[in-house]
Amino acid sequence: MRDWLSLRAHATPKATAISKAETAEPSVSYAELDDRVETLAGRLAAAGVGVDDPIAICAGTRPEFVAVVHAAQRLGGVLVPVNARLTDAEIETRLDRIEPATVVCERDTETAVCAATDMTPLSLDDPVAGATELSGTTPEPFDLPEWAPDDPLVVLFTSGTTGEPKGVVLTLANVLASATASAFRLGLRAGECWHVPLPMYHMGGLAPVYRSVLYGTRLSVQREFDPEETLSALSAVDAGAVSLVPTMLDRLLDAGTIPDLRFALVGGAPCPPELVTRAQDRGVPVAPTYGMTEAASQIATARPGEAREAPESVGNPLMFAQVTVVDRTGAVCETGESGELVVSGPMVTPGYLDEGTTERRFGTRGLRTGDRGYRDSTGRLYVQGRVDDTIITGGENVHPGEVESTLRSHPAVAGCAIVGIPDPEWGQRVGAVVVSADGATPTAESLETYCRDRLAGYKCPRTIDFAETLPRTASGTVDRDAVLARLVGYE
Ligand code: ATP
Ligand code: MG
Repeated sequence: MRDWLSLRAHATPKATAISKAETAEPSVSYAELDDRVETLAGRLAAAGVGVDDPIAICAGTRPEFVAVVHAAQRLGGVLVPVNARLTDAEIETRLDRIEPATVVCERDTETAVCAATDMTPLSLDDPVAGATELSGTTPEPFDLPEWAPDDPLVVLFTSGTTGEPKGVVLTLANVLASATASAFRLGLRAGECWHVPLPMYHMGGLAPVYRSVLYGTRLSVQREFDPEETLSALSAVDAGAVSLVPTMLDRLLDAGTIPDLRFALVGGAPCPPELVTRAQDRGVPVAPTYGMTEAASQIATARPGEAREAPESVGNPLMFAQVTVVDRTGAVCETGESGELVVSGPMVTPGYLDEGTTERRFGTRGLRTGDRGYRDSTGRLYVQGRVDDTIITGGENVHPGEVESTLRSHPAVAGCAIVGIPDPEWGQRVGAVVVSADGATPTAESLETYCRDRLAGYKCPRTIDFAETLPRTASGTVDRDAVLARLVGYE
């Protein structure tokens, strides 16, 4: 199999590959992208990159990043995106770990990358090295690799919500299965544009890069999410699809009218059903999705119509994907019974960089996700949070998701996070950080009473603190350690 961009450029050279939201900038056709990638691949080869070599890239979302993704594949290298927001020391640890054959950076990350390695990085802001300047350049020759489906294509780090980010190896077959299964669920439309305001060093931002080339559709990328800019980009590129984390959807709805879309894929973190309904009521076809780095993105996705019927659900697992719910002993749970979600299928990684982690997380039924959820009688999946977030107070189990959705149903509450605060008497006790709805000033007492009327006593928050916003990780998941630190500090 040749790299996907070569095949695409051969099939539809004139079709637009990358649409630019800034109207002054012309779009890039598949033939043009192919030329750029050929030059870039030659430069990377000249820098010493060969088949199977890791190519690290530490940069924000931009069209040149897209070119590096395809150039890495053309050379048979393994792309390793590194979070551009990390500190110098963290970048150094990451690069030491990866031992890349070359590092690609940009102006914003150059200092950090140079401090972290002895190699001279290739900067995307250097027109020659970054292959944005093509005139008069002849591509360096390089050997074309032979791809097998199980060859590693990319190593991506998880968000680090539950500890140190884990390096996930994704093969060509993983990414292909994910793209195929996603299209089977959401459909494809010729010439459609998928707008991505997410970082490409996370799966949600990277998946559409591979998919648009496989589908022959258009891609539009945005460096930083900004509600106003995203709204105008969606119109400018006439987007049919957009990928968002729930907080982005919330902010877009506050900012104005979202142009007509075929779907808005929303996932990466729990998406409150109120948010799904609010968006649907405003005509936004939300497709709630459950995904993870280890599954090359989506595992289950509800079509917009289904989300209207069951806004709490993330839909059925995608084609080829299997989701099994198991209890603590590993036995399969009954329908409706909640347990840990175990996933398997051709989109699921063969393993992590760290073999010990692979051994710990994989069992006979597949990858233990660490997420808790259940299936209903129609097969729909409901994700209820992380297994490790379960609070044990006086021997009783409290699932933060349940308390959070109760609190969120209070009209004065815009958002909240529940954590277990270490407690000498109870082991843990339930604590809440609450973000008030605009103009509302709920008191801790009123919220406690509200919960007490609806939940067993041991589930009700004992400590409630109010905040302007909830602390979140880069990918939008609630940073529970930061919530806990806040609550511990509060007393
Ligand atoms: P780490 O594995 O390092 O702790 P992470 O799991 O947050 O970090 P990602 O792979 O970026 O890293 O995120 C996948 C996780 O995000 C899922 O395992 C799940 O916990 C959460 N998630 C994704 N989509 C949803 C959703 N729709 N509802 C609830 N949780 C979701
Ligand atoms: Mg994870």
